[in-house]
Amino acid sequence: MVMSDMGRSTHDLGMDLRHKQPIGPQEHGTRQSGAENVLATARRPLDDARAQLREAVEYLQYDESVYDMLAVARRELSVSIPLRRDDGRVEVLTGHRVQHNLSRGPGKGGLRYSPDVGIDEVRALAIWMTWKCALLDVPFGGAKGGITIDPRSYSHAELERVTRRYTSEVSPFIGPDIDIMAPDIGTDERTMAWMLDTYSVGRGNTVLGIVTGKPVTLGGSLGRAMATSRGVAYIAMLALAQRSIRVERASAAVQGFGKVGRGAARILHDAGVTVVGVSDADGAIFRQSGIDIPKLEEHVDMTGSVVGFSGAEPLPGQHELLTLDVDMLVPAAVEAVLTEENAAQVRAKVVVEGANGPTTSAADRILQEKGCLVVPDILANAGGVVVSYFEWVQANQAYWWTVDEVESRLDARMQFAWNRVWELVESSGISLRSAAMALAVRSVAEAHRVRGLYP
Ligand code: GLU
Repeated sequence: MVMSDMGRSTHDLGMDLRHKQPIGPQEHGTRQSGAENVLATARRPLDDARAQLREAVEYLQYDESVYDMLAVARRELSVSIPLRRDDGRVEVLTGHRVQHNLSRGPGKGGLRYSPDVGIDEVRALAIWMTWKCALLDVPFGGAKGGITIDPRSYSHAELERVTRRYTSEVSPFIGPDIDIMAPDIGTDERTMAWMLDTYSVGRGNTVLGIVTGKPVTLGGSLGRAMATSRGVAYIAMLALAQRSIRVERASAAVQGFGKVGRGAARILHDAGVTVVGVSDADGAIFRQSGIDIPKLEEHVDMTGSVVGFSGAEPLPGQHELLTLDVDMLVPAAVEAVLTEENAAQVRAKVVVEGANGPTTSAADRILQEKGCLVVPDILANAGGVVVSYFEWVQANQAYWWTVDEVESRLDARMQFAWNRVWELVESSGISLRSAAMALAVRSVAEAHRVRGLYP
């Protein structure tokens, strides 16, 4: 598909998608739409998410109104969560749920527990969910939730109370056909079980489709726990092949050893990749001849961190991990770790974004100029939401698939999305991120066009 075809096919919307006058780079740099004015103090991930949208809208030669429509969320809800601590004190926490886009189906996206999470970060993450679902042809819109809390400082019982109160506060706003949550940083299948229970008790019947990433005993899908990691590793192999790097000769560094990074490191290791560096929030480790990932997993299960693993040397910090001399870097932790300060020193030939938004727009430009192949988050880490979709389908039908069915369908979708993106990269010469964004934005804009603007 070529650029002009993509632009042409979207004219004449109910929401006006007609081509605008092309705007020059200077104007691009200075112009502020209504959305940008309202949130002039936006944090970096939201700025990056909007910059990516801006570029896609320009590439597709859409009208400015498309940007204005997609730069802001359709709906947002912020709630106070009064929590009775175990010692009897009452503390009031804040939570959010942002539904960025609902044109292609119900909202879909994780719920994050983090001391740093605020409304702007949730907005950015919801925007990225919209593109992820569109690119993978998953029939959902993008949404995200967050509670400003450090889950490590709260007991199991306190986390249960927080989760249940948040769920009941947002329950008029969610539903299996409205907005479906899933785990993200700081939450897990236990969190999803509490959410399912709270929502279901309120309704008077068990609603299996209200969350995904729940325990298998409670309607969760086989293969969901490893789905994001599996998708990251699948795409990583395709990226290595694209750069003619043989898997058994490839070296990798994985930043983050949580739900995504740990599984990805394990699958890459099992496939023959030499994983030389790994990090988590507490520190980084290195071994030139390759870290024994299964042994490292045992160490992490015992101690809670990669730090102190006897089969590797400590690295001074994240910077050293991110700039290791490796074929492939997998940032699989949080946003904005590859920045204009460190991107020039990144030596990896391939970056596969396991996290959401790990590369700032400035770093993205630097990496591209260096010839580094950056596989964007909305493609690389979409395996989680793909299997969330499978879980939702299974739960709604109360008909369960085997793990082989789940995994082969996941692989097929990842391959399909990679092919779509790569086809556009080849025909247009744009980056993988620009191509993925163009396809995703086009698909969402098309949904708006055929539905029309109503009321
Ligand atoms: N939190 C995951 C993500 O960022 C999964 C979302 C989902 O499965 O709904 O993609």
